[in-house]
Amino acid sequence: MCGIVGYVGPGHAPEVIICGLRRLEYRGYDSAGVALLPDGAQRLLVVKTAGKIAALEKELALRASACAGRCHLGIGHTRWATHGAPTAANAHPHLSANGRIAIVHNGIIENYAALRQRLEDRGAVFRSETDSEVIAHLVDACYEGDLRRAVAAAVEQLEGAFGIAAVSPRHPGLIVAARRGSPVAVGVGDGETIVASDVCAVVSHTTRVVFLDDGDIVAARAGAVDITSARNLPISRELTHVDWDVGRIAKGGFEHFMLKEIHDQPRALADVTRGRLLPADGATRLSGMRMDAREMARVSRLIIAACGTSYYAGMIGKYLFEDFAGLPADVQQAAEFRYRNPIIERDTAMLAVSQSGETADTLAAVREALRKGAVVLGICNVVGSTIAREAGRGVYLHAGPEIGVASTKAFSCQVAVLAMMAVAFGRTRRLSAEAGRHMVNALADLPRIAAAVLERADLIRAVAEKYARARDFFYIGRGYMYPAALEGALKLKEISYIHAEGYHAAELKHGPIALLDSEVPVVAAVPDTPDKVKTLGNMQECRARKSPIIAIATQGDAGAREVSDDVIEIPPCPEFLSAIPVVIAEQLFAYHVARARGCPIDQPRNLAKSVTVE
Ligand code: GLU
Repeated sequence: MCGIVGYVGPGHAPEVIICGLRRLEYRGYDSAGVALLPDGAQRLLVVKTAGKIAALEKELALRASACAGRCHLGIGHTRWATHGAPTAANAHPHLSANGRIAIVHNGIIENYAALRQRLEDRGAVFRSETDSEVIAHLVDACYEGDLRRAVAAAVEQLEGAFGIAAVSPRHPGLIVAARRGSPVAVGVGDGETIVASDVCAVVSHTTRVVFLDDGDIVAARAGAVDITSARNLPISRELTHVDWDVGRIAKGGFEHFMLKEIHDQPRALADVTRGRLLPADGATRLSGMRMDAREMARVSRLIIAACGTSYYAGMIGKYLFEDFAGLPADVQQAAEFRYRNPIIERDTAMLAVSQSGETADTLAAVREALRKGAVVLGICNVVGSTIAREAGRGVYLHAGPEIGVASTKAFSCQVAVLAMMAVAFGRTRRLSAEAGRHMVNALADLPRIAAAVLERADLIRAVAEKYARARDFFYIGRGYMYPAALEGALKLKEISYIHAEGYHAAELKHGPIALLDSEVPVVAAVPDTPDKVKTLGNMQECRARKSPIIAIATQGDAGAREVSDDVIEIPPCPEFLSAIPVVIAEQLFAYHVARARGCPIDQPRNLAKSVTVE
């Protein structure tokens, strides 16, 4: 998820690596570190710090005597914590116990707990809480004098997603890198080679780049690369000439972080579900909840506390828990919760939903619930954030850093987490294995569904540009589409500054319909669900007031097309997850409206990414 930079060549490795890590800073990270092999040294010098790269640089300067001489090999990392708090000890690189192997890792190792247990049984001593550290011990356990073969043998045992780079003091001119699901690019310059998770760390040195494919293992030496498969068969990959504008590279080639993050959703949805779905049992495994079946069965009521976009995800959570687990759930605005005297009974549990894990009102709600004796579970993206720490248990989103102020991928992942929790609670009560299996399979299909919406980005852009001059919008929906309508309106307000209202489709008649006319478009979230027909009726009512109608509907739905001026199609999706594709379409719509109006999309006026005041 975050940054890897490795260097082997005639330059000064610490300098090249720090400079490369800086180029990856835009991705967001919480700690950083390097492993360097000063010329002639028998041991690697490992320096790691929590916080920014500047802190790492300072620490390196303090250790100047150790790395002031020549140093031609090293790897560095900026970490976005997924397993274990963002501390110096958890920062990468990680070393094997004997210091023979150092690795940096991007991604998530799903089977790390089992591997760690096995390695510990054989005497390995772990120094961090990360999933990544197992890789260092595993490579070491596989090492018989050939680093490339050791990495190849180790990755065979890994489940999950990874981009890895490894070095060893036994091989002063070699970096071995591997990938599965997490990018690795290798820049091959004149007598030097840079391994990185993102080309922007490479292009200032060379424009000749090899992009690894999943399963590739690369042995990188100064100015040369040698790629093999995990089974040690040689592979040839094309050398690409990369001539990119650095400003744009920082956003992964997209014009804005928000757009990049919208497009990141298939990957984020794969990561949030990774290792957590048990299709054979029709169940989910969310170990961070730290609740056994008995404890879960005892919960008689849920309070979901959240603000903004997280609040709308929480509304979907309410439906999920009530529909699939038969578990009463209330969604409460965290700011209200903290100042009322909320009723928390003995078996009430709270779910605190916050992307940053620092939202002041949600944090206050967490503290109030803990004071009243409730079990509190955090649903956060930022590992080690205050809510995650104080709740002490919960489920991380693993969405990767979200930099655009308007939340996008965090919403989809929050809904996915709530659905997985509904399966978990449901299986301790009325949800059958068969019904659970159906849900789990649908969750596994989310990356494909998200990708299918993104394929229609051009069409959504055309519709958005057509309506970009409107001054007011209404968004309507019912059932799971009601929160989706609220979130669509919020996205539009946040980044385009257009006045937009989200309403339950049936609620318009109770007042707001008075505002409709030919100048006020209505976006109807109306995928193919059992209550679709009723929303189609409400769309007719809007149409009768001359409002232009934009439907977000399941592909090929003739009924929706008939009552709409424009249709944004989404792929078929089970109702309980349908908010995800619908909201992705709404995100793209809002983005393109804002872009057409020339708005500063990543930093909308008056808004902050993490709302730490009440
Ligand atoms: N899962 C790893 C960790 O928590 C890697 C995180 C990353 O991709 O930066 O340390």
